[in-house]
Amino acid sequence: MTRPRRVIVLGGGLAANTFVAQARALGFDGDLDVLAAESRTPYARPPLSKAVLTGAAPPESTSLPFDPAAARFRRGVAAVAVDPVERLVTASDGTALPYDALLVATGSSARVPGPGTLTVRTIDDVTVLRDRLTTARTALIVGSGFLAWELAAGCVAAGVDTTVVTRPAPLARTLGTELAAMLISRARAAGARHVVAADPIVRADAGGTAVAVGASILRGDVMIGAVGCASNTAALPARWRSARAGGAIEIDELSRVRAGGGGGLVPDVYAAGDVTARVLGAGSARSPLWTAAIAQAVRAARTMLEVDGPTLSDDVPYCWTEAFGVEIRLAGVVPSGITPLIDGEGEGGALWRWPGAAAAVNRTMPIPRLKRLTVEPVPAHEPVDTKD
Ligand SMILES: Cc1cc2nc3c(=O)[nH]c(=O)nc-3n(C[C@H](O)[C@H](O)[C@H](O)COP(=O)(O)OP(=O)(O)OC[C@H]3O[C@@H](n4cnc5c(N)ncnc54)[C@H](O)[C@@H]3O)c2cc1C
Repeated sequence: MTRPRRVIVLGGGLAANTFVAQARALGFDGDLDVLAAESRTPYARPPLSKAVLTGAAPPESTSLPFDPAAARFRRGVAAVAVDPVERLVTASDGTALPYDALLVATGSSARVPGPGTLTVRTIDDVTVLRDRLTTARTALIVGSGFLAWELAAGCVAAGVDTTVVTRPAPLARTLGTELAAMLISRARAAGARHVVAADPIVRADAGGTAVAVGASILRGDVMIGAVGCASNTAALPARWRSARAGGAIEIDELSRVRAGGGGGLVPDVYAAGDVTARVLGAGSARSPLWTAAIAQAVRAARTMLEVDGPTLSDDVPYCWTEAFGVEIRLAGVVPSGITPLIDGEGEGGALWRWPGAAAAVNRTMPIPRLKRLTVEPVPAHEPVDTKD
């Protein structure tokens, strides 16, 4: 393949920004056009449900390092269609842009569990929520993952009576039963209520919005959904979407797009970030997380420009959360049914370990060290050196 001269990036968030920086760092000197639906410069979303929600950090503090000269950024201009035969992208301002290679980094949108529900995906969303919390007395949050508990922490900090409605065993698949229970007990101690429902239904109600949990009806002045996100693929050819991955764009370990559901490679098209699902064996899995978006974007730039380096298969999964005074940084995949080894407690925090996973809880530890621990045998109750 000859090196592309005209590259178009769809999306203006973390993955797009990382790709642009990496492509230039690798010496790409051709045309780079970025179509970005949002009119802001790239920003980090993780603080939105944490420090920005509580007011500890202003929205502007989320800006990502960004070089306006690295590409032609078209802010507030979305891609509306891609023609892979003519290799043309049509933009919302009516222009048609030809490409030699394409990066899809359109991210995802929050799923809305029912009418009248707020979600947090953008700076505008969190601004609306903060505003509502100034007058609300009660908040109802529907969702079982990190985001639900982070939002609950923000609502409690705002002095709002907060209830989280989750499916059974929230967080346990990601954190393991014991660490999940620790985080939830901190939430309860801080005043959040926890209601478990196999199938909560958010619905319009005479009194506004309500959640039906069995025969009970729960109401909040503010209703917030944290029930996952769906890949933004409306502008893309239907055959690129994967039904088995909930409509996400499947990529291989080199960030190359495969036509949906295990189809062949789509020539010169790459994808990174929340819009993707990684092909793994006979299936595929989404990983809508910060470090996955960066790794996929870096890999996409390398593959597009034919530069060797680690593949996505070499990467150890990593994620983090902060809520109710608990900061958890987790590397690897927590195995089910195995009791963790817990080293330390109190002021200095603790290190939790399982075969194949390690979590630093309120403890500072370099991410590479944490990742390395996932492949080291878990010792029988010995202190672990946490320095790099
Ligand atoms: C509230 C919140 C908290 C989070 N907390 C954590 C955390 O603690 N830890 C963690 O690991 N991850 C966290 N994440 C996830 C992390 O932020 C994402 O994985 C990351 O932002 C993905 O980057 P992205 O570039 O793929 O998508 P995005 O950051 O969503 O950027 C995609 C951009 O593309 C734009 N776009 C969409 N369609 C088009 C189109 N047709 N044309 C042009 N542009 C388009 C979108 O408007 C958006 O600006 C959090 C996410 C949220 C929302």
